[in-house]
Amino acid sequence: MIQPELREILNNRLAALEERIEAACRRAGRPRSEITLVAVTKSVTASVAAVLPELGVIDLGESRPQELWRKAAALSKDVHWHLVGHLQRNKITPTLPLVHLIHSVDSLRLLAALEQDASKQQLPVAVLLEVNTSGELQKHGFAVDEVPTVVGELLALRHVHIRGLMTMAALAEDPERSRPSFASLRELRDRLSRDFEEPHRLEHLSMGMTSDFEVAIEEGATVIRIGTALFEGLSEQAA
Ligand SMILES: *Cc1c(COP(=O)(O)O)cnc(C)c1O
Repeated sequence: MIQPELREILNNRLAALEERIEAACRRAGRPRSEITLVAVTKSVTASVAAVLPELGVIDLGESRPQELWRKAAALSKDVHWHLVGHLQRNKITPTLPLVHLIHSVDSLRLLAALEQDASKQQLPVAVLLEVNTSGELQKHGFAVDEVPTVVGELLALRHVHIRGLMTMAALAEDPERSRPSFASLRELRDRLSRDFEEPHRLEHLSMGMTSDFEVAIEEGATVIRIGTALFEGLSEQAA
């Protein structure tokens, strides 16, 4: 595929996505400016991903740290990189200088390792706590009931800055099936946010993917993570 054609496809998909985001904001009575679109580029090459910042989307997400490193090296330094997948402790050191927000912090053990490395590198790191709101056993994340019990440990972190909560709903055909997960993440945030103080702040709710982002916006998402709606069918494109 030649570059102008790829650009046109992505521009059209972005426009269609933007219309749906704005419609969901109107239904929810929320300003569009409250929501950050993260384009999840895990299925495409760096050259396809590189078109997004040219179209004005500077927040890009990857689920694997190694792929984030690779694309960060290839793309504009203006990109805000989001790690949305599992972070192994042995991948922390090279990830910290590159990442704008880690969405997927799923244990106190990982938080402790991040704190130690961020302190050593003198680089504060912004994170979200991944919460398992669906109760599925194979899902990563803190249990909903667990989060209130670890607030003291969270508030002791100095170089790790907690910025909010993230969840993935159970995959389902019907996006309405995601609503209880998203509502429970918002309720947890509302319940705990007064206990958080600087440098911590529960401002963000990262929830909603291609199949359920509109429901997520209705339930209070401030960050949505979109891959398929932008990149479907483009995975083999070298651009
Ligand atoms: C892949 C991925 C997304 C994007 O999902 P789509 O359904 O393709 O929009 C969002 N969040 C996480 C954690 C992912 O791994």
